Amino acid sequence: MPVYEYEHTNQGKPGEGSCERGRIFEVKQSMQDAALTRCPHCKAPVKRILSAPYISSQKSNSELRDLGFTKLVKRDDGVYENVTRRDGESRYMHRDKPETIPHLHKTISD
Ligand SMILES: [Zn+2]
Repeated sequence: MPVYEYEHTNQGKPGEGSCERGRIFEVKQSMQDAALTRCPHCKAPVKRILSAPYISSQKSNSELRDLGFTKLVKRDDGVYENVTRRDGESRYMHRDKPETIPHLHKTISD
């Protein structure tokens, strides 16, 4: 379920006449739902801040890899498994072996 951020539009300084939910608050909504125009708590007018929702679910390792991230999972003291490894990268990274460290620079320049 996406999370949207809303802001009360009728409030001045923080803490002044503010709603219990805070000036800016988050609402979980279905993508099909229309944007709220009133705060569900105090009924004051609100506006949606973010047009693009973010999904709070976890991404899988292969999704992270496709997005260009490198994810390391600690397996032992000084040993990390590169669960998003690409061609040519070591599966395990050893802290003391530079040749096993993922090609972070390559990833960034891609
Ligand atoms: Zn409110």
